[in-house]
Amino acid sequence: MFRLALHWQILVCMIAGALLGIALNTSAGQSTITLDKGLPAGFSSVEIIDTASRTEFRIEKEDQSQQTIVVAQSNDEPGDFHNFEEFAKAHPSLNTLYINRGQSPAHYWGAWFKRIGNLFLRLLKMVAVPLIVCSLVSGIMGLGGAGRVGWMFYRTLSYYMITSLLAIFTGIVLVNLIEPGLTGAEGPEKIVATSSQSAALGETIFNQIEAMLPDNPAAALVKPDFLSIIAFTLAFSVFALRIGGTTADGVQRAANVGLEVIMAMTTAIIRLAPVGVFFLMMYVTSTQGLSVFRSLGYYMLTVALALLFHSVVTLPLILWFVAKRNPLEFAKAMAPALLTAFSSASSNGTLPLTMTSIEKRAGVSNRTASFVLPLGATINMDGTALYEAVAVLFIAQVHYGHNLELSQQLIVAFTALLASVGAAGIPHAGLVMMVIILQAVDLPVEMQGIILAVDRVLDMGRTSVNVWSDCCGCAVVETYESPEPNGVPSSVGA
Ligand code: ASP
Repeated sequence: MFRLALHWQILVCMIAGALLGIALNTSAGQSTITLDKGLPAGFSSVEIIDTASRTEFRIEKEDQSQQTIVVAQSNDEPGDFHNFEEFAKAHPSLNTLYINRGQSPAHYWGAWFKRIGNLFLRLLKMVAVPLIVCSLVSGIMGLGGAGRVGWMFYRTLSYYMITSLLAIFTGIVLVNLIEPGLTGAEGPEKIVATSSQSAALGETIFNQIEAMLPDNPAAALVKPDFLSIIAFTLAFSVFALRIGGTTADGVQRAANVGLEVIMAMTTAIIRLAPVGVFFLMMYVTSTQGLSVFRSLGYYMLTVALALLFHSVVTLPLILWFVAKRNPLEFAKAMAPALLTAFSSASSNGTLPLTMTSIEKRAGVSNRTASFVLPLGATINMDGTALYEAVAVLFIAQVHYGHNLELSQQLIVAFTALLASVGAAGIPHAGLVMMVIILQAVDLPVEMQGIILAVDRVLDMGRTSVNVWSDCCGCAVVETYESPEPNGVPSSVGA
């Protein structure tokens, strides 16, 4: 029977989900309802006008006073809140009223699509921690000698560092050329104050070091705190290798057995990717409509162009000249992982698929993949680093009405690198880390509000670049690894 390859299934489901979501958003994305019964105490009527870009609550109180509260989802819309989490915290009863009775059909169904799509992400997350631990231990034990772990480690880290810096550089050049924040910007007067930069930088560096040293490895596993897990697992495996003999054999066997089972589970879960992608895509487009692709056009264009340059020029050149691989063929092999990264916006969530694809479809050894990929999913985020730099410089352009000075742009570059290392491979993690950079150049954290609305779609793009860079890193590191006769059995990874 004819069956589409997995990556085509995913692509078809993604397009179908987007089209259906847009159709739902256009036909049922707006609603207006006036409620005068079952209201929170003190209210006599509430009119809820729900659209894709804003939700307005017109409240009439029993004492005849009136109040309007706007939850805006885009920069063009002024609003009292810029997301429903903040709104729910400030007005819990109104939020319940909205969820139960005031949502447009598109928002109502969007919430269900999200829940269904999240089931797929939950399954992927379920296998992420055991997969990282087993694959790291198995990968390192397969190296056969502690000295080689060292080399692989240094090569991998050098690759991460170089490509992330290249990504940041690309982002900074483009944001200075396109100046998305200055197109028609009515930014306030210039403000220059940089006194707390060094403190913030020192703090950031130290935070990263702290994050790598778990005071309780079990707690790190439960959280899960990926940097700590990786650091501890690395140390554990390296010491097992150094002890050698039956101890090392036992650890290696246990890790291989665990990896075999968890990879089999993962492969089964991955077959569900097209369904998960379909629902996640429908969620994004049904709730945010076309505006998700349109608003904040120049800013999005800048991020998109920079991501594109990095992924179709910089990384393929590295792949071609250093790894001696055909970038097109390699990208085709990695398509299931890249498309899943795009739709799920989670490197960690995609990790099982990335590992399976790179071993099965791109022929990279388990030894390299299980070392480079889990580490990369956590600390190598070229897309996120680039995005952080562009977003902060864009915010600075809007806020100050001009570009930041070179020295400040350098601080942005350095902190963006650290922020990308510290960001978890989950949706919107980059937003959380951005606070560090905003503080480093004395920008108000609230300015982040203007880019929230389009974060999801950019997150999708930067996550694919994060995963693509991890994959290219695997190919690069693999070229320096000689074939290992006692490597992990080929059944592992099935
Ligand atoms: N979502 C990204 C990832 O998982 C992290 C980010 O928010 O930039 O790779």
